Amino acid sequence: MREVVLATRNQGKLREMAEIAQAFGILILPLPDEVEMPEETGSSFLENARLKAVHGHLATGMPVLADDSGIEVEALGGKPGIYSARFSGAGASDARNNELLLERLRGETRRTAFYRAALVLSDGEREWSALGSWRGEILEAPRGTGGFGYDPLFYVPELGRSAAELSREEKSRHSHRGNAMRALCRILALPI
Ligand code: IMP
Repeated sequence: MREVVLATRNQGKLREMAEIAQAFGILILPLPDEVEMPEETGSSFLENARLKAVHGHLATGMPVLADDSGIEVEALGGKPGIYSARFSGAGASDARNNELLLERLRGETRRTAFYRAALVLSDGEREWSALGSWRGEILEAPRGTGGFGYDPLFYVPELGRSAAELSREEKSRHSHRGNAMRALCRILALPI
């Protein structure tokens, strides 16, 4: 089985991506505790994912997979984008980010948003990448208790529920990260 280290400290992402990879015969290993994550100084999801993958490979000598993700809100010109985790500034939390998003969209009828995810795998010589998107609408008030981040505000019209009202499996089947991960695994499963 092919082994790949995942450069994240997020246990939820590790579990979700490991489950998808397993179906493609790829074993995801956690990033060793002593490896520090680099600063996300890129100007796109792809650049940030690449930064983390290359840094992880240099630190471990293993093939390293990294992701970067966020939400782009149409009425805010695509913001918060790569700054999604830090939207509400110093001391940002999911709750404060969600409050700020609701405040910025007060009275706004255009509620379309896209979750975006970029994945990059680096083995030092070669790189593989994949992108995933998920379209939704920002609710006027939070719904549901699952997921993380902006999930309680992210309504998925096709499913009639917010991302926080989906089971882990359902979210993984539809999400930006799930789609990007399946695309990357399909590429890796190709004979090269
Ligand atoms: P990352 O961990 O650097 O990729 O930052 C991602 C940030 O984007 C998170 O802190 C969330 O605010 C947001 N985000 C990305 N993916 C999701 C998701 O699946 N659900 C909810 N929020 C997400």
